Amino acid sequence: MHRRGLRFRKDFPIRVGSVRPIRPDVVFTRAKVAIFLDGCFWHGCPAHQRIPKSNPAYWIPKLKRNLERDREIDEALSAAGWLVVRIWEHEDADLAAERTMHVLQGAAD
Ligand SMILES: [Zn+2]
Repeated sequence: MHRRGLRFRKDFPIRVGSVRPIRPDVVFTRAKVAIFLDGCFWHGCPAHQRIPKSNPAYWIPKLKRNLERDREIDEALSAAGWLVVRIWEHEDADLAAERTMHVLQGAAD
């Protein structure tokens, strides 16, 4: 990614609106692209998320809330002009990097 002279930051909090600072995994500050690496379990991967059999009354609302929060974050960022890329932990790293590059090429620089 550095090859193309793209500046990216890790652990760079984004402040939008009144919500708590959002901390994507990787942030391209100039292009305004935020990358999230989503764990299959915590973020509700349709292919891999399994609700734990014990204590579903605890897990179902908790995991549902995670998804709602992800969507709120996506909306807050895009309302502020950010592009959001979410990558599942199960995704092939090369394909995910390629997808990210596509978004970056389309982003205003
Ligand atoms: Zn998955």
